[in-house]
Amino acid sequence: MQKDILTLIEGYQTFREHYFDKENTAFADLVREGQRPKILMIACSDSRVDPAIVMNCQPGDLFVIRNVANLVPPYEEDLSYHGTSAALEFGICVLGIRHVILFGHTQCGGIQTLLEHSHEKCGPKSFLTKWMELAKAAHDAITEYHAESSMEEKIILCGQYSLINSLKNLKTFPWITERVNQNSLSLHAWNFDMSKGILEEYDEKENCFRAITSPLPGSLKASF
Ligand SMILES: [Zn+2]
Repeated sequence: MQKDILTLIEGYQTFREHYFDKENTAFADLVREGQRPKILMIACSDSRVDPAIVMNCQPGDLFVIRNVANLVPPYEEDLSYHGTSAALEFGICVLGIRHVILFGHTQCGGIQTLLEHSHEKCGPKSFLTKWMELAKAAHDAITEYHAESSMEEKIILCGQYSLINSLKNLKTFPWITERVNQNSLSLHAWNFDMSKGILEEYDEKENCFRAITSPLPGSLKASF
């Protein structure tokens, strides 16, 4: 058997020992009670940025949608196969998710192909070419406002603009805006800097991304 596949099977055996070879594991509860995740994350398919690993989550914690460049299409009333929209609907309308987090990252290959126009080589019938049209507004913002920046900076900025555009597209879904207006659903846009390990959050009021810092150990916990 190929080494790559053997490595996977070894990983599965470790997983199985941890979650299934003991009694009363978290999986037994998840099977008995069903999944009740509070968080839905829309992440890139990039192999380096698995949100469950970056967030140190356990099975049952995250409902995850992954696609090229973590894009969200606008709400469309047609009869096409809308994978991302269907997963959003399932998470929000069926599971009652409380937070939707767009999880972008730096050095995104999807964003890079968009800026370098290399996806266009795939031809007009390419699924990738069509999909990346969703990030056109972000691409155009780079052309208009950041033409002088280096390609490295452009990729980071384009990823951030694309997150803001996807946040806008999320709000075109009627069952999302309804829940946001009722304060039963919150929308977030996070960007993970892979080179520094820094997580940033979009501040909609200030139109900027800020580093998310967790409280230091030993910091005050009580509030009055
Ligand atoms: Zn990516």
